[in-house]
Amino acid sequence: MGRVGDSRITKVVIVGGGTAGWMAAAALSRTMDGLSIRLVESEEIGTVGVGEATIPSIRLFNALIGLDEDDFVRETRGSFKLGVQFHDWGQLGDVYMHAFGQVGRSLGMLPFQQYWLRGRAEGVAGRFGDYSLNETVALQNRFARLPHIPNTSLDGIAYAFHFDAALYAAYLRRIAEAAGVERTEGKIAEVRRNGESGHVEAVVLENGTAIEGELFIDCSGFRALLIEGALETGFEDWTHWLPCDRAIAVPSENAGPARPYTQAFAHRSGWQWRIPLQHRTGNGHVFCSDFLSEDEAAAILLANIEGRPLAEPRTLRFRTGMRQRAWSGNVVALGLASGFLEPIESTSIHLIQNGIARLLAHFPDRDFDAANIDAYNRRIRFDHERIRDFIILHYHANQRTDSSFWTRCREMAIPETLARKIALFRSQGQLVREGDELFVEIGWFQVLTGQNIVPRGYHPMADQLSREELSGFVGDIETIVAGAASRLPTHDDFIAQHCAAGVPA
Ligand SMILES: Cc1cc2nc3c(=O)[nH]c(=O)nc-3n(C[C@H](O)[C@H](O)[C@H](O)COP(=O)(O)OP(=O)(O)OC[C@H]3O[C@@H](n4cnc5c(N)ncnc54)[C@H](O)[C@@H]3O)c2cc1C
Repeated sequence: MGRVGDSRITKVVIVGGGTAGWMAAAALSRTMDGLSIRLVESEEIGTVGVGEATIPSIRLFNALIGLDEDDFVRETRGSFKLGVQFHDWGQLGDVYMHAFGQVGRSLGMLPFQQYWLRGRAEGVAGRFGDYSLNETVALQNRFARLPHIPNTSLDGIAYAFHFDAALYAAYLRRIAEAAGVERTEGKIAEVRRNGESGHVEAVVLENGTAIEGELFIDCSGFRALLIEGALETGFEDWTHWLPCDRAIAVPSENAGPARPYTQAFAHRSGWQWRIPLQHRTGNGHVFCSDFLSEDEAAAILLANIEGRPLAEPRTLRFRTGMRQRAWSGNVVALGLASGFLEPIESTSIHLIQNGIARLLAHFPDRDFDAANIDAYNRRIRFDHERIRDFIILHYHANQRTDSSFWTRCREMAIPETLARKIALFRSQGQLVREGDELFVEIGWFQVLTGQNIVPRGYHPMADQLSREELSGFVGDIETIVAGAASRLPTHDDFIAQHCAAGVPA
């Protein structure tokens, strides 16, 4: 028997210094002892530089790398995010929110939404969002850290962040370098592979320097330098389900108080994000180039921003889908190198941290056992496919008649997994979360009903309450939620008190 540790990995090379590269560097350096980690990036190539909205799972990542939350928000000029507000997605004029966190509370064996479906049918329940503390707080532009509503069994606020992507990468870099990560500036010109195993042995810079490693993490963005450029792993294209392939982004001056939520406005052939930061607002128009030119898309974007633009609009091109295998040989791809799902539910940074967490769980030794790699790839595929389905739902569940783009999305064939979910929901409002898929039942419920997919009935157990009991049950929750929200400070005041960035020089 060999000694434990004989074939341990000691040398990791991370290719790329965008969000993915520095997240990987920070996480590995803070969690794995005995690794020498080198990150290679090219300032000349630069980073994508968008990716400013997150979901609550990022707080697990923050805890993993041990960062101080107030310091992180201050340094990235961030704000807090309670959910996403959708405008015009089902029909023109519709507004709903996919708010994070609990809505109402379960009773007996049934989740709250079953009682709400009955209450709404009988005219004793109000707007679904009135039972969500997150949505109620968000619409009043308030925020505080509140894990529970005091003296009740109701959860408090679930939150994520908006932040400046460039400042976030710089912040993570400071953490990673302090933990021993070495950075090399330079452009990689060649990837050197072992003739027998096919494994990557080194990346070679334009100046001839070879950087050798045992495990390579490809965070080179859309270029996918190692996983595709060298290993030709293949890409599974999902454009037929998610046809948007361009985004035009422009920052603007803030106008009014910072909303503690992202806004997503559906336009004629795509949609627009609005993300409030402390020093500016991020805006971008995601669209499908089959239906709209870049000039038209830029004009729509500029006509729908609140403050003065702070830069020229910038175009980004992308293709939706995922790498056939995110891990191949001794190369693990993270971030845009591993695939792209568009930002409507802010899932890309989550997928980076998810890839890192799974890599830590499946951390290899120099044998790179195929069973371990296969297990990793299966989990990554499952994670991507379930998020993909949720995103497709936003496009597919529309009743808009004003553009051929929305008609095409409504009429397209959808994945079987999504079709099953919608059919089950239509019958009696049931939703089943499979395995550890990211989005929970209540998230699906908000998007489905927000986009006018209404179940034919509700679960019969909801009839166990009398009409008066039902009215009292939902009414009490509404009162508690409204009271708790009214006692919180405004979002701006909370930031000013805890995590305001200094006035820019
Ligand atoms: C329009 C749009 C909106 C988005 N919005 C969100 C959002 O709201 N929320 C969210 O979670 N995500 C969002 N994303 C995704 C998010 O931006 C990315 O997941 C994130 O920025 C990670 O990028 P990356 O690090 O993989 O790649 P990049 O930022 O492209 O970094 C690639 C790195 O590789 C280096 N590199 C490349 N080639 C070489 C070479 N030859 N030699 C040396 N170095 C090299 C580059 O210098 C760079 O450092 C969005 C993406 C797009 C396109």
